[in-house]
Amino acid sequence: MIIVLRSGSSQEDVDEVVSRLKRLGFGAHVSQGLERTIVGAIGDERGVNLEDKLGVLPAVEKVIPVLTPYKLTSREFREADTVVRVGTAEIGPGRLTIIAGPCAVESEKQIVSVARRLKDGGAQILRGGAFKPRTSPYAFQGMGKEGLQLLALAREESGLPFVTEALGIEELDLVAEYADMIQIGARNMQNFRLLEAVGRLRKPVILKRGMMSTVDEFLMSAEYVLAQGNYQVLLCERGIRTFEPSTRNTLDLSCVPLVKGRSHLPIAVDPSHGTGRADLVEAMSLAAVMAGADSLLIEVHPNPIEALSDGPQSLNPDQFLHLVQNLRSLVPLVGRTL
Ligand code: PEP
Ligand code: MN
Repeated sequence: MIIVLRSGSSQEDVDEVVSRLKRLGFGAHVSQGLERTIVGAIGDERGVNLEDKLGVLPAVEKVIPVLTPYKLTSREFREADTVVRVGTAEIGPGRLTIIAGPCAVESEKQIVSVARRLKDGGAQILRGGAFKPRTSPYAFQGMGKEGLQLLALAREESGLPFVTEALGIEELDLVAEYADMIQIGARNMQNFRLLEAVGRLRKPVILKRGMMSTVDEFLMSAEYVLAQGNYQVLLCERGIRTFEPSTRNTLDLSCVPLVKGRSHLPIAVDPSHGTGRADLVEAMSLAAVMAGADSLLIEVHPNPIEALSDGPQSLNPDQFLHLVQNLRSLVPLVGRTL
């Protein structure tokens, strides 16, 4: 249920609603809008008529049921688009935010040189994996803590904040100590304990869609993070598994306007994992922006042929510059700046 307070309600009015909900055994999530305050009631509604219990309060304008299984993530709960802040960068309406960098951190030279080129080229956030989820246990697993330290160095050298993946709860605190934003990868989209743990942190999160997950399952996973009080979640479409073998995944761009209708959270598109092919990244990036994406997540490596992971889908810095140039002429058409 969502409790909408009358405009001009005081803090005491909000506190009264919250304490009533708590007494009834519900969790209360307060969303302060420009015009109105909304309180989301989270809990088992069977046997309790919240409309009766709260609708009588003079400050309450209406009590409305949320029909979707996700509550805090829904547009009904928050009408305005959420803006996610990562250091100096913002992700949300009116702008296109580019997150770029190699699949994995491999050396100081690799990450620092590419970070500088990306900054000059127009990226706002650096990416790079220090802990890598690899299909084979014998493949390069990432540099671990040293990778985090190199990302911090690249941040210092370039001025770009960075996002990196936490593979499990065990390393979450370590990752959070260094990173400006935490990535929850596709394989972990339904690792519910990990989602709750990043929900308890006060750091922005990028949540990638599981490769076999529906849009509603994707939004339910975001709900785990929001339910812990962390609303700084950027969703990321990165392709789903289909029968088509020509691309690594099938990039589901229809998910972008679909998610925008159902949720206030911003959404990024990752055409690198979405296609697995560097030659398709530019076309799918442009298409993603036209579909309404707030952000792009692009793998860029100083020398893709030598990359220790995901080389075939990585752009080199020159290809990245070419892409940004084309994006710059496109974004005004969709009311965004870059
Ligand atoms: C990545 O971003 O490098 C990655 C492993 O992504 P995904 O979880 O989408 O496969
Ligand atoms: Mn990758």
